[in-house]
Amino acid sequence: MALLVPEISLTPQLVSRFAARFPGPLAVLHSALTDTERLQAWRAARSAAAPVVIGTRSAIFAPLARPELIVVDEEHDASYKQQDGFRYSARDLALARAQRHGIPIVLGSATPSLESLARVRAGKARLLALPNRTAGARPPVLQLLDLRAHASTQGIATPTVVAIQRHLSAGGQVLVYLNRRGYAPTLFCPACGWVAPCPRCDARLTVHQRERSLECHHCGTRRAMPDACPDCGEPVKPVGQGTERVEETLAALFPGAGLARIDRDAMRRRGSLEATLGRIHAGEVRLLVGTQMLTKGHHFPDVSLVVVLNADQGLFGTDFRAAERLAQTIVQVAGRAGRAERPGEVLIQTEYPEHPLLRQLVDGGYEAFAAAALVEREQACWPPYARVAVLRAEAALREAPLAFLERARELALEGGDSGVEVLGPASAPMERRAGHYRAQLLLHAASHSPLQRLLARWVPLLEETPTARKVRWALDVDPLELF
Ligand SMILES: [Zn+2]
Ligand SMILES: [Zn+2]
Repeated sequence: MALLVPEISLTPQLVSRFAARFPGPLAVLHSALTDTERLQAWRAARSAAAPVVIGTRSAIFAPLARPELIVVDEEHDASYKQQDGFRYSARDLALARAQRHGIPIVLGSATPSLESLARVRAGKARLLALPNRTAGARPPVLQLLDLRAHASTQGIATPTVVAIQRHLSAGGQVLVYLNRRGYAPTLFCPACGWVAPCPRCDARLTVHQRERSLECHHCGTRRAMPDACPDCGEPVKPVGQGTERVEETLAALFPGAGLARIDRDAMRRRGSLEATLGRIHAGEVRLLVGTQMLTKGHHFPDVSLVVVLNADQGLFGTDFRAAERLAQTIVQVAGRAGRAERPGEVLIQTEYPEHPLLRQLVDGGYEAFAAAALVEREQACWPPYARVAVLRAEAALREAPLAFLERARELALEGGDSGVEVLGPASAPMERRAGHYRAQLLLHAASHSPLQRLLARWVPLLEETPTARKVRWALDVDPLELF
């Protein structure tokens, strides 16, 4: 059998659990292997020496000597989609592969993708619900906290501080989630209004206080933190909160609580994640702050309170999947609480407590959200009730991508009515990234076949288009993100 997981390095206990339960060696496949290790795992899978193959998305290409079952765990996870080079969705390939072998496939998730739920509704898949949580734990209680109605300290509202104190005093652990690493997202000069920009992107540089550096989270540009405003010489100040600043604030508010931060910066050194998880499970850490990394398969049985510091980043996204991603993240983070006998409490800080998405989640859980979201997608004719493809182009010259996409649009429309709507070209919301200007053309069809027909005719024409040589272009079918 094959088991796909989003990220093996973040779930070291998974492999050992399988090794303990199943006889014979495991073939473990992920990106951190050496070529020799990968070859050995590949051979073990092909020769049936290893009856179980565990791996991240590329493991879907592993040979299976005796295919019997494919399991895709956390099937909603975006990491199953390879976003550059050869673009593919390991989940969708797993579905195709299971069909070809004539074997069952299990897609597992506490927050199934709308694609998978639509397959259930269409009768193409069966929903197997696991209504009871492990060890009889009760589901966490979600509560919205109106940020406009309360004073706050560096983004932490006063009632949140009180709740954290209450849970710490009762011997619980508290998890504070914020999907923004670094100290502050902006370095600002109050005297003249200067904001530290990335020289290569239409974006701001993030302040990393401990490193005394400014870093672009889009292109990786790094520079030393200036002591004063480069324009007027007055003192500058960091504005907004990232995990590093939240950690500093929590340390000041709850001295001696035992604090750990889990994000890409804090966990950079090999072994630091294991060491931190060890400290958490030993009870040395009572307060945990982190990014999405916290949601990836970790179990914190003593966590009794989860705080979502800012739910609003995903509420008004331009992408049609923004709401789905936000709902999944909130439910996944909330799921870390109250796994053992104590019921968990979840506080979601927001400036929009009346927002329908948040209300659905709080009142009816993920199921209610997903049902409403599916209706919305169907009415708007977006996936999973339509197929889309995106042609992206970028170049160092601003005009080149738009010229190429304009030509691509003409070529797409040349064949007469294909049943595919061509939208754009449009520049990306963040037009310049890593020194390149970016734009895209969106193809939208009611179903698979007209899109497939158009692509088959169109892509060879694109390859011969003279303006194509002046840009870097890529076609993304079923994109996870529109830009
Ligand atoms: Zn200034
Ligand atoms: Zn940049």
